[in-house]
Formats: sequence, C-alpha cells, structure tokens
Amino acid sequence: MHLNALKILYCKIHQSDSFIQETDDTLVITQLIYQKLWNYPMAIDEGFALYIKRRTKEIEDALRYHARNCDSPCIICSDLEKIGV
Ligand SMILES: [Zn+2]
Repeated sequence: MHLNALKILYCKIHQSDSFIQETDDTLVITQLIYQKLWNYPMAIDEGFALYIKRRTKEIEDALRYHARNCDSPCIICSDLEKIGV
C-alpha cells in the first residue's frame, strides 16, 4: 500500500488540514483511520479493509495522473502539502 495515499486518506477521513501523526508506520496510520471509519456508513457496509484498499487505490491512481499532468497548484498539490511531500 502506498504510504502517501494512506496519509492522504487519513487527512480526508479525519477532515484534517495536516497530517498530525508524525509516523510513517502504515499499521499505526491504518489503525487511526479505522477509529474514524465508524462514522462512514459506506465503509461499514463495504468492510473497513476493502474500503481502505479501494480508496487508497483511487488516491494512488490520482497521484500517478497528477505526477504526469499537473502544471499548476491543484487540490492534489494541496493534499500533498498537508502530508509534507
Ligand atoms: Zn497539482
């Protein structure tokens, strides 16, 4: 699983302006995401593991597209700034 995608998902789930937890431990970040997923009916219905896998895949795809195509500040640039990339 791509660490940056996981961190961006953390920010989105926690509605945070920054990646507060100073860790690169994917297990720790995943556990922090799990704590908030009880607020997301879609995640409950889908299952947390599948939800995280699907969402991080979507974010990874967006990051790949972004890396090739972004030529001005955009929402993904903002997301990357939040996680300190
Ligand atoms: Zn951009």
